[in-house]
Amino acid sequence: MTDQAAFSIFDGHNDALLRVWRAGPGGESAFVEGGGEGHLDLPRALAGGMRGGLFGVFVPRPPAEPAPPDMDRAAKELSPPVSHDWAAQVAEEQAAILERLERISGGRLRKALAPGDARAALDGDHLACVLHFEGAEPIAEDLSNLEAWHERGLRSIGLVWARRNAFAEGVPLRFPASPDIGPGLTSAGKELVRQCRRLGMLVDVSHLNYRGFLDVAKEYAGPVVATHSCAHAICPAARNLTDEQLRVIRDTGGIAGVSLNLPDLNPDGSESTVGALGLIARHLEHFAAVAGVGHVGIGSDFDGCPMPEQVPDAAALPRIAEALGERGWKEHDIRRVFRDNWVRVLDQTLSEG
Ligand SMILES: [Zn+2]
Repeated sequence: MTDQAAFSIFDGHNDALLRVWRAGPGGESAFVEGGGEGHLDLPRALAGGMRGGLFGVFVPRPPAEPAPPDMDRAAKELSPPVSHDWAAQVAEEQAAILERLERISGGRLRKALAPGDARAALDGDHLACVLHFEGAEPIAEDLSNLEAWHERGLRSIGLVWARRNAFAEGVPLRFPASPDIGPGLTSAGKELVRQCRRLGMLVDVSHLNYRGFLDVAKEYAGPVVATHSCAHAICPAARNLTDEQLRVIRDTGGIAGVSLNLPDLNPDGSESTVGALGLIARHLEHFAAVAGVGHVGIGSDFDGCPMPEQVPDAAALPRIAEALGERGWKEHDIRRVFRDNWVRVLDQTLSEG
C-alpha cells in the first residue's frame, strides 16, 4: 500500500464513536494516536485517504437489560426499543467524545458543519467528521431539543436502527425478506424530517422500512441518503435497497452508499469473505446501473460490523479503488463514488438549510 492514497474518500457511515465510548478512559487518545483497535482510527483513516465521514451515535440497549434470545437470522424480529432518556444520555456522552477528539487532535480531526467543510478536508490533510445519529431516539418526540442538537453540531439523522421508535420503524435484520415490513413514519416522524430539511440536516434512510422510506422522500423534498445499504437485487436482505428505492433516491438527487457488511453483500446472506472485493464492486456497479454513478457512494460501517479480510480497516480503503480500476472503472467515476457525490449532497443540503 502506498503512503499517498490515489483518491481521498468520504465514507458514509462508521460506528467509531460507539467503539471509543465502550473503550472508556484512554479510548480517545488511542483513536487519535492509533491504538490498532477496531477498524478506524485517525492515523489509519488518513493513511487510507479517508478525509471525511458520517460519525454515528449509536445507542445500545441499557446494560441492565438482558440480551434478547439468540434468534436465527431467517427469523429475526425487531430489537426492543430503547427509552428516550437512556438514548439522550448515551448521545450526550458520544457527542462529547467527538468534541474531545477534535480538541486533542491538533487540527487533524474537525467537525464538518457547513458547506465546503468536507471539500476542504478531501482536498487537504485532515478528517472532517459529520455528527450523525443512527436512530433518532435522543430527539424528544415533540422535537424540543432538535435545534439544540443542531447548534451542538448534529448534521445528520438516521431515523431508525432495527427498532421501532417515536418517529419510524426499522426493518429487522431478516434474510431473505422484502423491506416492505411495517408502517410508515408517525406524524412526529414526518415533522422531524421536515425540520431536518429546514435546519439543513441530512436524513438517512438506511435501516428504515419501505413505507417510511417513501414518506421521507416525500416530506424531505431534497437529496435523500442511504448511508450504508447494499443492493437487494444481489442480496435480498430486508435492509438492502430495491431497484425502485434506488430510483427514488436518484430522483431526489441523493446517494446510496454500499456497506462492507458481509451478510448484506453475499447473495446467500452469509458471512463468507470469499471474493469480497469483487462483490463490493458488483453492488456498486448495480447501484450505478440503476441510479447512475452520480448517486453512488460507500458507507463502510467500520466498527459496526465484521469487515471482510480484504478490507480489514480504513487504511485498506484504496483496495476498493484498485478493484474498481481493474474492472475498467474510469478514474473520474471512482472519484465521484469516493468523494464528489458526497461533496455535492453535503454542500447542497447544509447550504439550503
Ligand atoms: Zn447500521
